Amino acid sequence: MQSRRAFLATGVGVAANSVANRVVAQQDAGQTLLSQADDDQAVQDLEVLLPRNRVPLSFVIDDSTCLVNMGHFCTPQFAEALPNRAEYKKPWRDWPREIPDCFVRKFGEWCAEHGVRGKYSIVPYPACVGWVDRELPGWSRQQLQESLKLVRELIVPNWDIHPEMITHTRVIDLKTGRPVEAINAGTMENSYPQEKKSVDELASYLAYALRILERCDLPCEGITTPGGFGNLVKSELSLAVDQAVRDVYSVDLPHYFKYVRTGDQNVEPVLEHLRGQDTDDLRLTVNVPAGTGDWFGGWQGDRDPEPDRYCNQEATSGRMVELIERREPAVMLCHWPGIYSNGNEAGFQAFQRIVTSLEARYGDQTIWMKLSEIGRYWTAKELTKLRRTGKQVALDAPFAADKFTFRIMNVNGPVRFGTGMRQVCQLSGLDSGTWFQSGRDVIVCLNLPRGRSMVEVG
Ligand SMILES: [Zn+2]
Repeated sequence: MQSRRAFLATGVGVAANSVANRVVAQQDAGQTLLSQADDDQAVQDLEVLLPRNRVPLSFVIDDSTCLVNMGHFCTPQFAEALPNRAEYKKPWRDWPREIPDCFVRKFGEWCAEHGVRGKYSIVPYPACVGWVDRELPGWSRQQLQESLKLVRELIVPNWDIHPEMITHTRVIDLKTGRPVEAINAGTMENSYPQEKKSVDELASYLAYALRILERCDLPCEGITTPGGFGNLVKSELSLAVDQAVRDVYSVDLPHYFKYVRTGDQNVEPVLEHLRGQDTDDLRLTVNVPAGTGDWFGGWQGDRDPEPDRYCNQEATSGRMVELIERREPAVMLCHWPGIYSNGNEAGFQAFQRIVTSLEARYGDQTIWMKLSEIGRYWTAKELTKLRRTGKQVALDAPFAADKFTFRIMNVNGPVRFGTGMRQVCQLSGLDSGTWFQSGRDVIVCLNLPRGRSMVEVG
């Protein structure tokens, strides 16, 4: 479940990542400069910045679902498929079968108070225990429905919901809805498929998972792969995400979580399978990676958390600090059983300590975002065309994005965008609908609408 996660530097069918943005921001401005060379309103550069000029933070939670403790239920199924691995021989019977809703509530409320956002998996047929849209043996129908209601009311506002495939254990025969009969590595979702599959085949599998969540009235803009799911078909998988998520949820910008980046690797989202550029039907899939390992309690919840690996008490060291200092998205990863820690909540305490340490040192330089929000921001950052002519900046955005922030060089405010904008006197006060005079430049933050719009300065 975690040892399997591929550590890859680049996605597949990659869009011209940061290049697109730089070409748009600099070359367009440069062309304008040439054509306006005799205009005394000298045209200078534009630069798209981070949202609110802050570093995005996000918390990725894998292996969560309703009530079912995946550590307890997955371990014996993995043990049967892959009998030689020591981690599958652990005493899973001693671990609780449930991660109770009172813990979900406690966690969700604390996160809401601290502004934490991220991704929360709901495995639709968790370890084949039951169907979250129908019946979960071991719990009453009412308990299941209350659990879903809690997710809808408390989790959905601040977290993307992803299916983590159908079961996170056995591969399901889509014709019968039953686990395939043979038990081996090839019939576990974590290592599926073991041969090439078409985009359509993969999309059908993804859509099956998504439809279960759709029937639970849970919104989805993306999926999480269980472990090595799709490792042999990375390009097809990315396209299948686009197809399945659009098909079931009609969203304009599907994304997925599969990869973990380490060391010096770029941790920014990757725009994949970009097509239909310069048309009204621009399509792509956003691959949003995590930048840390899971150093909480692990997927079985039995490890001692190592919070200092994310960030020490003073927030002067650790991977999250490193990423914040690099001004790249700092997306941290955990598995839900490792936050509950089989009831002692050690993972949750470690997480709280990390969040409060980051808050104390970096509170005014960071912003918690869902994965979909990070993916959308990067898409807008890379693909929005900005063209400056004198005191006007024309924006042509294939996708809307909130808190879109950019610098207009060598100009003084005020700034108008539709109904006008409010000036803030500190950079940290920048938010949608405001601007800041930064020396000779103006920094603007606005909710970018899809299509064409215009900002006027001075
Ligand atoms: Zn998982």
